[in-house]
Amino acid sequence: MAKPEKKLQDLKTRLLEVGDLNHINALLGWDQTTYMPPGGAEARGRQSALMARMAQEKFIDKKIGKLLDDLRSYEESLPYDSDDASLIRVSRREYERALKVPPEFIGELSEHGAMSYQAWAEARPANDFSRVRANLEKTLELSRKLADFFGDYEHIADPLIDFADYGMKASTVRALFADLRDQLVPIVRSITSQPPVDDSALHKRYPEAEQLSFGAEVVKQLGYDFSRGRIDKTHHPFMTKFSLGDVRITTRVKENYLGDCLFSNMHEAGHAMYEQGIDMSYEGMPLGGGTSAGVHESQSRLWENIVGRSRGFWEYMYPKLQAHFPEQLNSVSLDEFYPAINKVEKSLIRTEADEVTYNLHVMLRFDFEVQLLEGSLSIRDLPEAWHERFEHDFGIVPPDDKDGVLQDVHWYAGVIGGSFQGYTLGNILSAQFYNAALKVHPEIPDEMNQGKFSTLHGWLRENIYRHGSKFTAPEIIERASGSALTIEPYINYLKTKYGALYAL
Ligand code: ZN
Repeated sequence: MAKPEKKLQDLKTRLLEVGDLNHINALLGWDQTTYMPPGGAEARGRQSALMARMAQEKFIDKKIGKLLDDLRSYEESLPYDSDDASLIRVSRREYERALKVPPEFIGELSEHGAMSYQAWAEARPANDFSRVRANLEKTLELSRKLADFFGDYEHIADPLIDFADYGMKASTVRALFADLRDQLVPIVRSITSQPPVDDSALHKRYPEAEQLSFGAEVVKQLGYDFSRGRIDKTHHPFMTKFSLGDVRITTRVKENYLGDCLFSNMHEAGHAMYEQGIDMSYEGMPLGGGTSAGVHESQSRLWENIVGRSRGFWEYMYPKLQAHFPEQLNSVSLDEFYPAINKVEKSLIRTEADEVTYNLHVMLRFDFEVQLLEGSLSIRDLPEAWHERFEHDFGIVPPDDKDGVLQDVHWYAGVIGGSFQGYTLGNILSAQFYNAALKVHPEIPDEMNQGKFSTLHGWLRENIYRHGSKFTAPEIIERASGSALTIEPYINYLKTKYGALYAL
């Protein structure tokens, strides 16, 4: 019988092939959403489905199952947090999950996602929901089918939520969101009853090339490594990875709004720094990616908001921004700019929403996903339901579907279910992690005023990034912050920050 080291090597060789196929597919996806002409859509959908199916077939190969079985006693002989034991444990968990989903289904889902994305990219600017309705009905059907492969759930959304945020269920998310909502609504009400902040400085004309160059400068300063990354333009910004040495971000520019490119860059760079910070020895392995949607989002939101919308950060960065846009900003003081980038208002677009109202956007989507999956809401009625719920929660009626039900790419390129709760989990966790970092390094805010981010970045790398998926989200939260997920630090952060900006 071969030594466990030899079997582990065999396992790693096989897993690397699966990882490579998935990363090749990510490259096809990146190309599709950046430079591919529309004419390429059909073939790309087919090619992407082929890659997804091949990866799935390779992964569920019985030989991998046999190796995982044979390695069980070796795994048990090692400490829980050793790299080898963790690789075997996490691979087994994913293998057992993958076994439940037939490769043909993965291919079908992937092909449908590519076609549906293309339809959405045309339907949104045309404000035409009817162009994507049939696609979305099919997405819902496939999403239900996917959940059903896992059977034995409390709620049909549970398996899909578990994919993104391991260990969470519709009921746990609902309870958490209800608590948060109770705390948030009075803050939103108190702020939005006050006179609006003047943010006209952000809505002057900001030429695209200059926005792109400043946006790149900012993320470089934060610690995004351009020798292992790059930035390109797309419809809906995202981060993607082809290896630990190539972690890319995408952006979009509105010439009449400074905030879009700037803050989405910091957001995506937060995701990317997480991936760039993973232990290089996990390359291509199931350990070599962020551990959950919520923890991933905690990093994008931490860099985008807790750092990127802080007074200290802009004390350092604002003169540099003014140097890029002297005509637009030389007459605008930091005392005017800082409230402008933190303006709280009831608005239409989730990705542009302020920190205080943002979670209400997420809760609306989460509830719709749950209702669609359980069948209490139909795709046909979705646009109208969106308008109604939006008016109820925000007091404004979306003027169209473009900035209503068509605004987010998720349902048009993936599945319905589990796509949104991670954003709010991320907001909550961003404050919890930042607090934990401050406890060890109280000097972080002062350093930020000087443009130094390496202490914070180093703490995050040491406590979160380098571990990749070695630990589950609940494990990493406990290890890094010393407690389970709690909304308290986040509520305190919002109350302190916005209490200084507005009378609460
Ligand atoms: Zn994100």
